[in-house]
Amino acid sequence: LSTDSDVAKRETESISKRSLRSSAEKFEFQAEVSRLMDIIINSLYSNKDIFLRELISNASDALDKIRFLALTDKEVLGEGDNTELEILIKLDKENKILSIRDRGIGMTKEDLIKNLGTIAKSGTSSFLEKMQTGGDLNLIGQFGVGFYSVYLVADYVEVISKHNDDKQYVWESKADGSFAVSEDVWNEPLGRGTEIRLHLRDEAQEYLDEFKLKELVRKYSEFINFPIRLWASKE
Ligand code: ADP
Ligand code: MG
Repeated sequence: LSTDSDVAKRETESISKRSLRSSAEKFEFQAEVSRLMDIIINSLYSNKDIFLRELISNASDALDKIRFLALTDKEVLGEGDNTELEILIKLDKENKILSIRDRGIGMTKEDLIKNLGTIAKSGTSSFLEKMQTGGDLNLIGQFGVGFYSVYLVADYVEVISKHNDDKQYVWESKADGSFAVSEDVWNEPLGRGTEIRLHLRDEAQEYLDEFKLKELVRKYSEFINFPIRLWASKE
């Protein structure tokens, strides 16, 4: 874990807008996923830190997948930065965005639509039941729906992803029952992998604090086999 300074240079209209891109294709979340998101966004659960554990775990899974494919076909790794199997966490204090990116396998457009919203996993309904009977939100990852914990701290989330088999796409949602997907013509090319941008809620600004993040990353990276780097913009 190392800390670097990075003056956040390029930021796009998406940040100032905070509304979904009008040209995007719109989708409804599967009903149970939508209910789950409602519960999360309205939750008074105090241990919101867990969202970072879920994101690090997803990044690590994505890196595992590309590393596995590379065992039989080195070409899949590409060249240059793409070969760096790492996780980067960026704190953009000016725009109040916490982002985490990996150079893992990435998601195609179809993956984004299926994995983040339209296909409910078997664990979704069991988790909903658990939550209705006073279950612990901390267990969210065990039900295969850990991603949605981002809405504990964010009210608008963008997932930018590039898979070797497709172009770069942006998924975005304000957890209001729908999400949007569009070809990414706004951001710099990722090369390969996924960047998750959390537009932090007013009550969750503590996650822009370098020291807090450093501590959390240390806590959650214990069993992660990839380097994690933390970048913070100057205020
Ligand atoms: P789980 O990790 O248990 O499958 P999640 O809710 O955490 O459940 O994630 C849902 C799915 O979204 C994952 O199974 C994966 O297909 C996809 N996904 C999430 N984050 C990433 C990522 N960083 N890179 C690639 N795919 C991802
Ligand atoms: Mg997960």
